[in-house]
Amino acid sequence: MNIALMAHDSKKELMTQFCIAYCGILSHHSLCATGTTGKIVAEATGLQIQRFLSGPQGGDQQIASRIACNEIDLLLMFRNPTDPGPNEPKDNTLLRLCDVHNIPVATNIATAEALIHALDRGDLDWRDIINPKD
Ligand code: PGA
Repeated sequence: MNIALMAHDSKKELMTQFCIAYCGILSHHSLCATGTTGKIVAEATGLQIQRFLSGPQGGDQQIASRIACNEIDLLLMFRNPTDPGPNEPKDNTLLRLCDVHNIPVATNIATAEALIHALDRGDLDWRDIINPKD
């Protein structure tokens, strides 16, 4: 599965702790991330992560384009709900695209944990059946 990671600045530590906790599961999948999130998580976990541009430079839109091309199977996007700031329109675009393409998406750690366990059990394998990569 192709998993995309993205975290607002105030949620980067939470994303890092999440990825440390679930490193064993995540290591079996292809990971990509916006630039700063990917750098921090890769340094903390040793996971191989394809890094796009930083969010403000368009990294979130690089993820959006891959979602539109059906190249992402799961999006973990930890956002700050109390201060969405200037990211809100771009975040809403990403969430809309996930809905359009039926991509499982987590915007908080509780949902992320549910999805990562589902991933580990193979509950998300239907994506490979419905959307074969080749
Ligand atoms: P970053 O992008 O990982 O490069 O910080 C995420 C964001 O803009 O919120």
